[in-house]
Amino acid sequence: ATTTASDFIRERIQADQQAGLHDGRVQTRFPPEPNGYLHIGHSKSIQLNFGLAEEFGGACNLRFDDTNPEAEDPEYVDAIQDDIAWLGFEPARVVYASDYFEQLYAWAEELVTKGLAYVDDQDAETISEQRGGFGQPGVESPYRDRSPEENLDLLRRMRAGEFDDGTKVLRARIDMQHNVMSMRDPVLYRIRRIEHHRTGNDWVIYPTYDWAHGQSDAIEGVTHSLCTLEFTDHRPLYDWCLEHLELPHGKPEQTEFARLALTHTVMSKRILRRLVEEGTVDGWDDARMPTLRGMRTRGYPAEAIREFVDHIGVAKTNSVHDIELLEFFVRRHHNTHALRRMGVLEPLKVVITNWPEGHVEHLEAINNPEDEAAGTRAVPFSGELWIEQDDFMLDPPKKYYRLTPGREVRLRGGYFITATEAITDDDGKVVEVRCTYDPETKGGQAPDGRKVKSTIHWVSAQHAVDATVHLYERLFTDPHPGKGDSDPMESLDPESRRTVTAKVEPAIADTPAGEVIQFERLGYFAADPSQPTTFHRTVGLRDEWSN
Ligand code: ATP
Ligand code: MG
Ligand code: MG
Repeated sequence: ATTTASDFIRERIQADQQAGLHDGRVQTRFPPEPNGYLHIGHSKSIQLNFGLAEEFGGACNLRFDDTNPEAEDPEYVDAIQDDIAWLGFEPARVVYASDYFEQLYAWAEELVTKGLAYVDDQDAETISEQRGGFGQPGVESPYRDRSPEENLDLLRRMRAGEFDDGTKVLRARIDMQHNVMSMRDPVLYRIRRIEHHRTGNDWVIYPTYDWAHGQSDAIEGVTHSLCTLEFTDHRPLYDWCLEHLELPHGKPEQTEFARLALTHTVMSKRILRRLVEEGTVDGWDDARMPTLRGMRTRGYPAEAIREFVDHIGVAKTNSVHDIELLEFFVRRHHNTHALRRMGVLEPLKVVITNWPEGHVEHLEAINNPEDEAAGTRAVPFSGELWIEQDDFMLDPPKKYYRLTPGREVRLRGGYFITATEAITDDDGKVVEVRCTYDPETKGGQAPDGRKVKSTIHWVSAQHAVDATVHLYERLFTDPHPGKGDSDPMESLDPESRRTVTAKVEPAIADTPAGEVIQFERLGYFAADPSQPTTFHRTVGLRDEWSN
């Protein structure tokens, strides 16, 4: 487990406890809408809510905020639970805002009876225009002064399905001149004939976020309701609703924190859904997606994601973090845990002309220099090998120390070889390199102590296994896709995925699904969860994070 530094939310909870608020209890909730898959931004909210419950001996519910049936689906309900478990958290209870529809409705009648809510016959556009803006007056609806009796009758008929979609709404009756916009008679119920994934066609009216959220918190006995900064303006409304109702527990309090944002990354579910629906990516679990699914495919361990999120902490102002910092945590994890293997992404044939015909040796290689317990393996070596195309150059520039005619290099864990001849095709492209080897250098040391300037990786051609390897660039080239009014899709890299057939050592074929290995000199690669001998490049070996 990682240690979590204190922050303004933890300080506030401690202060509440000292003041004896909420009977000293701490209860939180994670409230996703089941309209998409969780992304790394959600992880911040998950870690905060579940983490606080754990630290303060309280409980954290997973609550599906399913008040908006259009885009919601049981597929997402299942995936969200699965992803939370993968991250390593277990909800005290799994609950649904839709379980509270009856209670929420009863409370709406309570407001109407108290003269605190009214039915408005105006359309959404008119209501929105009348709201005005900061420093601009609001305009009261002509329906604002209906009597409680008339409003109660209309609300009941709204529920009974007597009116068409969009022809009436229920609004709180607060103050059309309030300087917080959310307090200018917000909409509490809309008429929508859409089948709900849990309540079917029981309801034709659905509560808004503002009406459902605080009351759901109150029903469950949540003490600290944490949400992102854009809800700051909704806090007066959150409090107003709760103050006017008979509540089963004490009043929950809302506190806001900054959203997690990353460079080169889009986290809006609307945009993520577009990427999936337009076929830009293969699905929500595509390795380029910032979803927890995508990161899992990509080989990001849950531990590394949690460490990263804990590291950046909880703040009161929004900021954008470098994606390279997340990659740093991923790389650090794999450096300790990943087995080392050899694979060649862009193969070039090497023929060792003085190797005994048909002879095969098995060289012992260390599986993980960071972990002795990982042991060793036998890597087959023979007279025909694959090396990386860019590890040989016919006419190298200065400071190129790898293979070139007349130059001796070390084959990792194998022998020294010297290039004697390059065979080119009609276009002058090198298709084969002939070499000699020094039998005295087995294991990579020369008895006469002579040095070579570089060590390259290789795979025995007759033993090589073909592997499909997906190489990734950033999905969005712009560090801040969608900045200002721009369309984030404009900075999509059409070549964010390149797929090659690599030649890999036999041990790689045995990598369990989902496991991450290091291809020596190339980076970390995750075995696809379902496709055999298919790998996704998780991250390169070099730390690119600075500052
Ligand atoms: P979207 O606006 O893309 O639909 P959302 O914020 O509505 O995203 P939900 O699934 O409704 O997503 O959110 C569930 C919880 O996760 C909310 O409490 C929300 O504040 C939190 N959350 C979502 N995105 C982030 C983020 N980037 N950083 C921190 N918390 C987030
Ligand atoms: Mg949402
Ligand atoms: Mg939202």
